[in-house]
Formats: sequence, structure tokens, C-alpha cells
Amino acid sequence: MPDPDTLPGLAERLAKQPEDHKYGHGHALILCGGPGRGGAARMAARGALRIGAGLVTLGVPPAAQQENATRLDAIMLRRVADAAALTELLQDTRLNAVCIGPGFGLSDDHADLVAAALAAGRATVLDADALTLLSRDADLFGTLHDRCVLTPHAGEFARLFPDIADRVEHRAEATRAAAARAGCTVLLKGAVTVIADPDGTTATHRAEGAQAAPWLATAGAGDVLAGFIAGLLARGSAPLQAAEDAAWLHAACARAFGPGLIAEDLPDTLPRVFRTLG
Ligand code: AMP
Ligand code: MG
Repeated sequence: MPDPDTLPGLAERLAKQPEDHKYGHGHALILCGGPGRGGAARMAARGALRIGAGLVTLGVPPAAQQENATRLDAIMLRRVADAAALTELLQDTRLNAVCIGPGFGLSDDHADLVAAALAAGRATVLDADALTLLSRDADLFGTLHDRCVLTPHAGEFARLFPDIADRVEHRAEATRAAAARAGCTVLLKGAVTVIADPDGTTATHRAEGAQAAPWLATAGAGDVLAGFIAGLLARGSAPLQAAEDAAWLHAACARAFGPGLIAEDLPDTLPRVFRTLG
């Protein structure tokens, strides 16, 4: 049974055609942190692949190469030693979407990697540690561009936009102000997720009533959402559309899986949700 609250056109946007080739569905690069902290990026990468990106590469620092190599099958692994290596990797224009921040790190070297990712001008999801780095460095924040999607939860939002969080109680209004300030799409997470573009266009996903998805209140759920968005960006969706579709699918996966959900179940529940879309 199709869900009556499905977003208009979602099934069409997700569809693949009989003659399609993997290179026609984009290539997402998910950047990974150092040893022992790759779980979040691996979950994001799995989300990007499950949602339909043609190829997904995990960019890993040399010290974490081996531990990630033993855990990934369909996801490719590339060594990214530093910001210069990332800049070089992103010379490949087929890598058309980037996700940076889940389980990443907060050192100056990590800030340099965020700067290099932003300088490449790709559709880019910035989550978790990347948001903290942006909140610490006004110059870095100033390099955000209109192909970026920021995905803060309330705490990250308050760190990034303290004056807006203090002044504006209404979440949709606050998200619009943040998007205008950042010059890119902002998705404010929560049971009610609000997404806004700098021009004020707003979308809202309410995980309430029949759409309640409280099982998403679990470690790592946000990392998977970042991967979902990156996958849809790789497939060519505009930032606001990618964020809106990803938020809907994320909650739909939680509803389909139900109690006992942990974040790594989310990507593998997508096929079940896709089958309900008609
Ligand atoms: P994070 O805090 O980064 O792990 O992200 C948590 C994710 O779960 C976001 O996508 C939230 O929108 C979602 N989420 C958290 N709590 C709830 C809830 N009670 N109902 C629905 N979604 C939620
Ligand atoms: Mg998070």
C-alpha cells in the first residue's frame, strides 16, 4: 500500500531505468575520520549507496585505511592523507557529491579538509564535526556555497547560529534565517525537521501522528541521514529536494523497521520502503 503521505514525485525521482549505467547515477565521496571512528562515515556511505548513488567512495586517512578495508565490500576506499590529497581527488569531476563530518575530527587538519572540500564546489553535505569546525571559524563559514546542505540538530544549530537560536523561537523562521546567513540549504533536525533555502523556500517533515518515528532518537541516525542526502545529491537532486526526500525516507525506514532500530538498520530498510512507493 502506498503511504498516503508520500512526497509527490518521490518514486519517479528514485526510479532507475532498464538501460541505466552506474556512472549515470553519480559518485558520492564520504570522508572518514581516523582510527576507531569510522563507523559513522561507513553508515553514511552505506546510506548513500542504498539510496541509489551509482558509486560511493569512502575517503580515509592512511592510519584508518586497513580497518576500513576489512569492513567494506560494495563501497570503494581511497586514501586521503591531507587537504592537498583531497583537492587532487576532487579534480575527478565524476565525484559529484561529498559528505563530510560524521565521525570526522576537530583538529586543524580536519578544518583544512573541510576547506578543501568546500573549495572544490561540489554538492556537499556538512554534518556533525564539520558543523562544529564551521562554528569555530568565520572564514571557513564564509566559504559555504549554494550547493551545500548543513544538517544540524538543535545543539549544533545553537553553536553555529547562536544569535538566531537565541532570538528566534519559531523553528521554521530560525532555519530560514540560518539558510540566508549561510547562503545554502539548512536542515534543522528533530521530531519535526525543517529545511530551508536561502531564498526562504521551506519544507517540513513532521514525524508525528501516523508519521511518528521515535526510533530515530538513537546514536548514528543523523549520520545515515547525511549519507542519504549525499546519495541523492550524487544522483542530481537539488539540495532542498535531496534534503526533503532524504528526511522523508529516513523516517519511513524507522517506521518500517519499528522498535529495536539501530542506525545501521536504516540503509538496509530502504528497499522495503522503496517497494511501498509504487
Ligand atoms: P543526530 O542527532 O545527528 O543523530 O540525528 C538524529 C536524527 O534522528 C535526525 O534525523 C532527527 O530528525 C531524527 N530524530 C531524532 N529524534 C527523533 C524523534 N523523536 N522523532 C523523529 N525523528 C527523530
Ligand atoms: Mg549527528
